[in-house]
Amino acid sequence: MFLLLSLCMCGLLLQGDAQDRAALWRGNDRSGRCQYTFTVPSPVEASCPQTGGPEVEGLKARLSLLEVLVSRLTGGDTGGPQGAGAAARPGLQEALDRATGERNLLRGEKERLEQELQGLQRRMEEMRRETERLRSRPCPPQTPMVPPSPPLQDSGLTRPAGGSNPNRQGDSSSLRDSAWEYGHPGFQELKAEVTEVPAPHGSEDNTGCGELVSVAEPVTHRKADNIAGKYGVWMQDPEAVSPYGPEMVWRIDTIGSDVRQLFGYDDMEQLSKGFPSKVLMLPELVESTGATLYRGSLYYQRRRSRSLIRFDLASESTAARRDLPHAGFHGQFPYSWGGYTDIDLSVDEQGLWAVYSTSKAKGAIVISQLDPHSLDVKRSWETNIRKNSVANTFIICGKLYTVASYTAPDTIINYVYDTKTSQGKPMAVPFRNKYRYNSMIDYNLAQRKLFAWDNFHMVSYDLRLGRQQAN
Ligand code: CA
Repeated sequence: MFLLLSLCMCGLLLQGDAQDRAALWRGNDRSGRCQYTFTVPSPVEASCPQTGGPEVEGLKARLSLLEVLVSRLTGGDTGGPQGAGAAARPGLQEALDRATGERNLLRGEKERLEQELQGLQRRMEEMRRETERLRSRPCPPQTPMVPPSPPLQDSGLTRPAGGSNPNRQGDSSSLRDSAWEYGHPGFQELKAEVTEVPAPHGSEDNTGCGELVSVAEPVTHRKADNIAGKYGVWMQDPEAVSPYGPEMVWRIDTIGSDVRQLFGYDDMEQLSKGFPSKVLMLPELVESTGATLYRGSLYYQRRRSRSLIRFDLASESTAARRDLPHAGFHGQFPYSWGGYTDIDLSVDEQGLWAVYSTSKAKGAIVISQLDPHSLDVKRSWETNIRKNSVANTFIICGKLYTVASYTAPDTIINYVYDTKTSQGKPMAVPFRNKYRYNSMIDYNLAQRKLFAWDNFHMVSYDLRLGRQQAN
């Protein structure tokens, strides 16, 4: 019995080896007889569960998963199910990259907006402080605006100009340009106005070259298209030269730091329609609204200088150039509205004129008659009209007239100075600033009207002259 038990135990122990082959055991039983045990593989052995089989399959499955993961992580393409996963990866990665990029862009935009907001908040704070500072500061004493005063009685000569601004001593040629920049028209808005007086009446005559009696209501011909035309000058040539006829109208918009375009219109109607037939580029930049036309040439002040330019329209080239001696420029002696109106050129029955001031004249208006060919000064008159106390001037028949205000809708022409007698006197001819910002007023000899540029609008005024007085 023990033997049998031993044989069975041995058989169990050797089962693993016996599964693949036949095995024979030999032993003795208690009776001394030999006993043989023969073992062969079972015919259903293949279906028998093997020791550790499920675990191995599990391991194989896990190994396969690991291989797939490794393949994905390393970017390999192993085909099969793993390959399909890898094939889908670029699409997913692309979407991820796109989303990441968009997120980064949004972050950048957010940062930019935050910075912009901070900047705006800083500016608001600065403006608030500036407002408080201005409110708390007492108003500076106003420089009294001295209206033009009549010359000494019976003297026949003009007095030295009034005004004692200590900053205007010495030769103007040594003065530098002020800090007033052309790009800050706000300064010009701050100019004061001249005190007005009631207008008297006088005898009228539509002919001759007597004193100005009346100025009619303005007629509007054109409104400028953009901000460049808030100020400007428009004109006609009273003695036009071919290829341009006497009907030709010329215009310069003078806002900006690069004023050099001269627009030509065939006639007033084309100006009104806004259809220029010619645009000339001037060789030198234009300063302010003081340009004029005469005998086929445009006369104007070169920017930031006292140089006068004669630009020949036919050849489109500079025909003459000369400094106006000692003339203030670029804000030294402007009209009351500013605008760098230091040198005002105009034409009347007697030729070409320049109205300006010098340091010697201490801000009083100087009138010079110019040689239209060479630009030489032929003769000068020094008046006692403080230039910055008047809004503008124009010359008719050798008489200079001053306009009191450039903004008051109902102002007056408050002074006349006759170059023939070198005498001046107050007057009060009503004058209307329809658009309340008159930046240019000149006599148009061709039509015997006043041309003006009033707050984007090109306007003209009919006028009446008194009887010519015998002298
Ligand atoms: Ca003028």
